[in-house]
Amino acid sequence: MLSVVVGGIPITGALKQMVTDGLMVVGDAAHQADPLTAGGINLGMIAGDIAAQVGAEAVQAGDVSARRLSEYEKRWRKQFGRQHDALYRVRKILIKMEEAQLNALVKTASELPLREMNLGQVALALFKAHPRLLIEAGTLMASGLILK
Ligand SMILES: Cc1cc2nc3c(=O)[nH]c(=O)nc-3n(C[C@H](O)[C@H](O)[C@H](O)COP(=O)(O)OP(=O)(O)OC[C@H]3O[C@@H](n4cnc5c(N)ncnc54)[C@H](O)[C@@H]3O)c2cc1C
Repeated sequence: MLSVVVGGIPITGALKQMVTDGLMVVGDAAHQADPLTAGGINLGMIAGDIAAQVGAEAVQAGDVSARRLSEYEKRWRKQFGRQHDALYRVRKILIKMEEAQLNALVKTASELPLREMNLGQVALALFKAHPRLLIEAGTLMASGLILK
């Protein structure tokens, strides 16, 4: 063993409030990492980019109030909000899933031509093979993340 890398990634869903007077939080501080994979580098960078644009304009205008900075949060939620919420729900479903069911899902998925399928088609194939999933996935379909 040459080194040990450890750390925590907040994946409890994005913060309900990301700005206040004179402050915007981005990346892990705003719990923006993908709630399913915990990947947060790209999401943090994009949020930083949006915050920088909004912040620069706010400073130039001499107004860094929460009201003005909320433009950052509005843009972030428009770009990521719905997907983030849905992935958080997927995470909760997977955490509760029994190991045997999870193994069966992975087995089915491993037999699919994944490179030729989009997310909706994968979901449909999994539902066909495991109809019980439909009950758990109702809210995801309502969110539009799958079956688009
Ligand atoms: C082990 C591990 C593996 C990961 N693998 C991946 C991966 O493969 N792909 C992926 O996309 N994501 C991965 N992540 C998640 C990713 O690292 C984070 O989501 C991302 O780095 C968040 O970026 P950030 O800028 O918000 O926070 P950070 O990268 O944590 O940056 C915050 C910075 O602020 C500094 N800081 C803290 N307090 C202060 C202070 N008071 N004053 C000044 N500076 C301060 C810290 O030292 C740090 O440099 C991984 C995380 C861990 C822990």
